[in-house]
Amino acid sequence: MPVERCQRNNEQGWRWGKEGYCYLPSEEGSEDAAKEAAQRQGRAIESNRKSYHLYLPCQVCGHAVFVPLGVESVICSFCRARQQEADRAQEYGS
Ligand SMILES: [Zn+2]
Repeated sequence: MPVERCQRNNEQGWRWGKEGYCYLPSEEGSEDAAKEAAQRQGRAIESNRKSYHLYLPCQVCGHAVFVPLGVESVICSFCRARQQEADRAQEYGS
């Protein structure tokens, strides 16, 4: 997600995507500092998201899979490999 323009207190600032805080040059000291603050927050948000993992059951065999938050269809590596093999077999079979 990029750093984008935002507005707060009738002043143009910078924020990280839609969820970031709007940093204002008047509060951060300069235009560059405001942009940098937004980028710094963005990196923190991103690394937080990456570290947010949880266990969900594989749709096929029910085996617990460790996945990042937000992943909806969970399939374990074993089932995925088996599915890919089946797909390949079907392609060559028809
Ligand atoms: Zn599985």
